[in-house]
Order: sequence, then C-alpha cells, then structure tokens
Amino acid sequence: MDIRKLARRNILNLHPYSSARDEYTGSGGILLDANENAFGAVIPGGYNRYPDPRQQALKNEIGKYQKISDDRIFLGNGSDEAIDLLIRAVCEPGQDAILIFPPTYGMYKVCADINNVSVRQIPLQNDFTLPTRGAADLNDPAIKIIFLCSPNNPTGNIFAADAILPLLQNQNRLVVVDEAYIDFSGTPGMLGFLSEHDNLVILQTFSKSWGLAGIRLGTAFAHPDVIDLLNKIKYPYNINILTQEKAREALRHPGALTDFVEQILAQRAYLEKALEKLQNVEHIFPSQANFLLVRFKDAPAIFKHLIEHNVIVRDRSRAVHCENCLRITVGTPSENRLLIGLLEQLEG
Ligand SMILES: *Cc1c(COP(=O)(O)O)cnc(C)c1O
Repeated sequence: MDIRKLARRNILNLHPYSSARDEYTGSGGILLDANENAFGAVIPGGYNRYPDPRQQALKNEIGKYQKISDDRIFLGNGSDEAIDLLIRAVCEPGQDAILIFPPTYGMYKVCADINNVSVRQIPLQNDFTLPTRGAADLNDPAIKIIFLCSPNNPTGNIFAADAILPLLQNQNRLVVVDEAYIDFSGTPGMLGFLSEHDNLVILQTFSKSWGLAGIRLGTAFAHPDVIDLLNKIKYPYNINILTQEKAREALRHPGALTDFVEQILAQRAYLEKALEKLQNVEHIFPSQANFLLVRFKDAPAIFKHLIEHNVIVRDRSRAVHCENCLRITVGTPSENRLLIGLLEQLEG
C-alpha cells in the first residue's frame, strides 16, 4: 500500500502545527518558549508544563507490553479519536466512503457522518458472521476504510483471522479492526499480522479490560506511514499529563488486568448459566467480550422492569438482527445476582 495514494491530498500537503515541545525536545534547560506559567501550578504536580506531544515514555512502555515498536503506535484521546482521525486522513468529504457491517459500534458511522463521508453498510449474517466475499459493495473503489469490530459490539462474537485477511487484499484502502474487547476473548487478536499487512490498523483501548474508561486513552497500531499520518493531524497535546502518568502506572500492574479478566469471565459464565434457565430468555449469543447480547421474548417489558429497579442495560432491539435484544454488561457478583433475581421475578 502506498500511503501517498490513499491519504487526502490536502493532508499530504499539510504543514502541521509545530509546538514548542516539537521544536525543542531536549530535557532540562530554562523553558521560556511555551508561555507556560514558570512559577508553577496552583496545585502541586508539575502540571504547569505541557505534556510530551509524542508521548514517548508511554509509547515505550506500551511497545514493550505489546512487543511492538514505538513507530507503530498512535495514542488517542480514547479510540474514538483514532476513528475520527483515520476518516479525516483518508476519506475525501462528499466523495469517499467507509464500509461497516451492522450491527456494530455506532462511532464509525457518526464520525463518517460528521465528516460528510458516506457509509456503505453490509449487514452481518443472521449468526453475526461476516458476509461472504461475493458481496458486490465490497469492491466499490470509493470505500477507503473498512471498519470491523472484533469481538463485535453489540453481538460479542469475534471474527476469525481467516475471515478478515481476504479484506486486506485490496491495497487501496485501510482495514481497521477494533479490538476494544480483545482481552476478554482469550485470543491474541490481529496484532501478529501487522508486520505483513501495511493497510491493517488495529484499535485497542484502556477503557474496558484495564478499567480506565475515565482517563480516555486509546491505541492504534499500524504501519509507521499510517501512524505518521495520524500524528500529523492530531491535536499537538492530545494526551494530557495525568492520562500519560496513570497509563504508565497501570502498565506496571499487568497482573491486576489478568485478575479482572478472570473474574469477569467467571461472572460472564455465571450469567450465561443463570439466564439459560429463564423462560423469558429466547437466546444468549455466545460472547467473547465483557457483555452478553440476550434475546428475550419481550425485551421492552424486561427493560422497563429492570429500570424501575435501578438496573440499566442497553436496549439494542432496533439494531439489525437484534429484535428483542438487550446488551448486558457483566457486573460484579452481587450486581449479577441482583439482575438475575429481578429477571426471576418476571417468570410466569
Ligand atoms: C468501548 C468501545 C471503544 C472504546 O472507545 P474509547 O474511546 O477508547 O473509550 C471502542 N470501540 C468499541 C467497539 C467499543 O465498544
């Protein structure tokens, strides 16, 4: 893939903003170049200084953790930032398109809509596997990015590498695989394919398994040319000091992540077993994520009963192939017991 053919012309020609910390990257010295408050901050912590715009220390640690070189890592203010930047980097508004496979995560379409980039949609099959390769829309040259979510939100299933790899054959577009839930899947995901496919982009996030949704940190892994393009158009200081510090602290506790994943998987199994016994449950879709998509006989009645008792789940019943489906995040043991108790109250 030639990134110069894929990127929008104005982005290729763009002279990005060069921040003070881009122009002087040394350490120490008397910093009178960024109009910061040289006296300090009103609270302790060194926050009077701008953060490292390249997030070098954090990238080193993520690189070590993922066994990937720093120049293949982009950090965003949540993976949502990476989704938006990818679209803006390669899709010409009013002309190009993205392709999604609904039902899936809503941000791909929202970001495309905001950027006036059209959205081609090929629904997943009834069992939520990818549509067969013959689908004519797949060959549309206007499509510059395919977004896949694996494990998929809201359906919970993962797509086999064998189903994803054929999509990478067309070199005139990017294939973005959103792996927000990969840590719950017990599989390594697509990172191992990165070095062979320079049009592959993998998104991950600190929001789910790491338990850090509040600090807003997402990662995009891709060929260095794609990463350069994203860095060129991101806000100069898109990851703040607090987030960089907390993420580095988290990376020193990978065992805590493993513990969480173990507990969540045990609770997911508990929920599956308990839900299976209920008459009101029609189907529990197999999940490789930290949530279950469940088809009820009467989802609106269930949803209403739960909300009346202060338990909030996600109504996905209007999504393709998701009639009467609610998406339930795996909670703590007591939360899950309470949920099951409420559902038992509605049994005939
Ligand atoms: C939760 C989620 C994300 C995470 O987004 P952040 O902006 O990193 O919090 C990304 N993709 C999918 C499919 C998700 O469900």
